[in-house]
Amino acid sequence: MNLKDKIRVVEDFPKEGISFKDITTLLQDGKAYKRAVDLCIEAVKDKEFDIIIGPEARGFLIGAPMSYATGKGFVPVRKPGKLPYETVKYEYELEYGTDALEIHRDSIKPGQKVLIVDDLLATGGTILSTIKLIEQLGGQVVSVLFLIELEFLNGRDTLKDYDVKSVIKY
Ligand code: 5GP
Repeated sequence: MNLKDKIRVVEDFPKEGISFKDITTLLQDGKAYKRAVDLCIEAVKDKEFDIIIGPEARGFLIGAPMSYATGKGFVPVRKPGKLPYETVKYEYELEYGTDALEIHRDSIKPGQKVLIVDDLLATGGTILSTIKLIEQLGGQVVSVLFLIELEFLNGRDTLKDYDVKSVIKY
C-alpha cells in the first residue's frame, strides 16, 4: 500500500500558493491509518522515551494511537486558552501567519525523555516552539517524528539540533 496515494493534495488551501496535504482521506481508510501509525512506531523503535507529546490538532491523531500502542503517556500541546490548568506559553511564526502554543506546567517532569509527534513538517516553526515549551519544563527531547515531511521547505534546518524522522516525504 502506498500511503501517498491516500493523501489528498488540495491546492491553494488555506491560502493561494499552498499545496495542502490533506490527511483526512488517509484517516478515513482504516487500513491506511493503521499502517501509517505502525510505520511511525517502527521509525522510533530504537528510541527510549517516557512520554509522547503532540501539538493540536493533527498531532493528536498520530500521537494518541502511538501512545495507546506503546503504553506511554500522551501530553497535548494546545492553542492558547484551551488547557484548564496552569500553563506555559510560547509564540511562534507559521508557514502562514503567527500563533502561540501552551502546555500544562506540570505535564512533564524534569529529565523526562520526550518523543514529539506531528502530522507534518513544513518550516519546523510549530515543533521548534513545542521544543521550547518542553525544554522550559526540563524535558529532554529524544526524537521528533512526523508522518509527512515537506523536504523542500527545509524544516530540518530549523530542527538541526534534534533527531528528526519522517515516514512520507514530498
Ligand atoms: P510548520 O510549523 O512546520 O511550518 O507547519 C507545520 C504545522 O502546520 C503542522 O502542525 C501541520 O499540521 C500544519 N500544516 C502546514 N502545512 C500543512 C499541510 O500541507 N498539510 C497538513 N496536514 N498540515 C499542514
